[in-house]
Amino acid sequence: MLSECPQCRYSLKGLPAEHRCPECGLGYDAASELFKPAHSRALLWAAVGPVMGGFWMLLQVLNVARALPGKWQWTMWLFSCAYVSMLAWFGWRLWKNYRRGAIVATMPDALWLRFDRATEEHIPWAGISRVVVSRGFVGATMFLKETKTVRDIRGVFKNRADAERFVEQAEVRIANASCD
Ligand SMILES: [Zn+2]
Repeated sequence: MLSECPQCRYSLKGLPAEHRCPECGLGYDAASELFKPAHSRALLWAAVGPVMGGFWMLLQVLNVARALPGKWQWTMWLFSCAYVSMLAWFGWRLWKNYRRGAIVATMPDALWLRFDRATEEHIPWAGISRVVVSRGFVGATMFLKETKTVRDIRGVFKNRADAERFVEQAEVRIANASCD
């Protein structure tokens, strides 16, 4: 079952297993499932320290700057503004990535792959010959028919059990696609 829409991230909880996303209209069925990595809250928390330290230093600099001639005060203020904008931009990027991170979804017609905000792929099930659980890492490996190439799907599963469930579902999709 889909917990959220892979296209717009609208929550689909409480809706029928086979439906359309009320927000963007994307169709899904009971076998559709979305996989995503465990969010690294530790990373967000790790950023708090340096940011707080940076602000503290900034306050000290501005405190010192008050005793300096006018020209220097301006420079300090400009520097501070640049620093704060940089932090804001960095925080915004982090938030965007957090909100729209990596996913794999077993949609009715295609396998949806997104590793970051910019790259999203929809690979038709008919174009995949098979999918296996990887041995070397937590993830899966798929074999593409047309290009006869192998692609690794990693960094999107919480654990090996997640990857195994994905492979089970992908196998069903691939089998159905080759019947049609
Ligand atoms: Zn949607």
